[in-house]
Amino acid sequence: MIYEEIKHILKDIKECSPGQDEFYQATREVLESIVPLLEADSRYLEQNIIKRLVVPDRTIIFRVNWVDDRGVVQTNLGYRVQFNSAIGPYKGGLRFHKSVNLGVVKFLGFEQIFKNALTSLQIGGAKGGSNFNPKGKSDNEVMRFCQSFMNELYKYIGKNRDVPAGDIGVGKREIGYLFGQYKKLTGDFDGVLTGKGLNWGGSFGRKQATGYGSVYFAQEHLGVYNNSLEGKTCVVSGSGNVAIYTIEKLQDLDAKVVACSDSTGTIYHKNGIDLASLKAVKEIHRESLKSYAKIHPDSKFIDISHYPEGGHAIWHIPCDVAFPSATQNELSLIDAKELVKNGCILVNEGANMPTTPDAIEYLQQNGVLFSPGKAANAGGVATSQLEMSQNAAMTQWNFEEVDIKLHQIMKSIFKVAYETSIEYKNRGNLIVGANIAGFKKVADSMIDQGAV
Ligand code: NDP
Repeated sequence: MIYEEIKHILKDIKECSPGQDEFYQATREVLESIVPLLEADSRYLEQNIIKRLVVPDRTIIFRVNWVDDRGVVQTNLGYRVQFNSAIGPYKGGLRFHKSVNLGVVKFLGFEQIFKNALTSLQIGGAKGGSNFNPKGKSDNEVMRFCQSFMNELYKYIGKNRDVPAGDIGVGKREIGYLFGQYKKLTGDFDGVLTGKGLNWGGSFGRKQATGYGSVYFAQEHLGVYNNSLEGKTCVVSGSGNVAIYTIEKLQDLDAKVVACSDSTGTIYHKNGIDLASLKAVKEIHRESLKSYAKIHPDSKFIDISHYPEGGHAIWHIPCDVAFPSATQNELSLIDAKELVKNGCILVNEGANMPTTPDAIEYLQQNGVLFSPGKAANAGGVATSQLEMSQNAAMTQWNFEEVDIKLHQIMKSIFKVAYETSIEYKNRGNLIVGANIAGFKKVADSMIDQGAV
């Protein structure tokens, strides 16, 4: 009966959101995993909570015109999906990548609702971005794009209303240009964006937060099984913000990271990734990982085209723990089979929805522990909320203070997800635990606030 109802809702979503495959994938995962809660408590279906939750409060789509270095006007699309504000002001990142479309922004916004609820902080779910591709653009072009983007976005955001942050393609440089334009348009120096520079309202530890938090989560997860990261061989996909600080924390904890990747390919460095070189190549020079291989001739660069059948080279490198930390659907069934074959014990998602549903099923069936992104990568948004708290109090905590809070938050997210999985008779299934815990908090708040 409940399965039938869920099937109907999913069918409606598919029909109403044609072509939005990632959004459908994200809603399906959540709805199917909360069945044990729906069976235990009839209020959620009676009050139509699910149908209300899968439709964003508001979707804003706008044109962004900007002038390139040749003086030619370029046009991109801008998006902000304000999904749900039952527990606090909208909060979620902005992604600038050529693959951004409405379905991608909606999947990210939907995931963000539950992730933010899991942090135990008061933040609602949203996401935004543009199909603008920052690759190969000059700093001036990126600045002009960000200014034009904010010329429209500023009407819909505010420190108590909607507080965007970074995501793929949006780091400190872009947040700076966006913040500068917001300030110019409104005249207010507000904590309206997070991920700000340390001199102008940013928080220590925000840059590291998602990566460090992901590793803290993995540590908790292994701890339940009397295991730890120490001495483990790890692979971390991506080489952006999340991946770099995942690698940094893993190395702090004496794990050995032998591979990372980017959109051009994978680096396999059997002796261990050299973090200083990686930061120089990716953070400072914004180059391909091919440059890393030139600095380290004992490493191997495997071009992205190497696995035409749909797998990714990085998951075929033997490891104990895998940290998918680049983008959605980057770890497929082919890759999961390879991880199992090579004895991987844990897949810990740093990115949003990086593992395909069939890959997750295969990993779980074969006894590989699985940490879902909406729990494991929540350290970034949690620290963004800490940045908002510091802005509101006009103060700045030091790195250690923030890191201690982050560590506590990650421990408590793990605890709630794990204990909820037990309560709903799925011991250790953190997809069920995280989704039910996040959903329950938001759904109960929606019921309290009536049909709005
Ligand atoms: P960045 O832009 O800093 O880095 C993304 C990395 O992934 C880059 O190395 C990029 O390669 C690589 N990448 C992107 N798309 C692809 C692709 N299609 N194939 C292969 N590699 C790809 O982004 P973040 O590190 O901030 O984000 C990574 C993931 O983590 C995303 O899923 C994001 O939503 C999620 N996340 C981020 C948070 C944050 O605080 N930043 C918080 C929570 C989740 P290249 O260098 O060549 O561009």
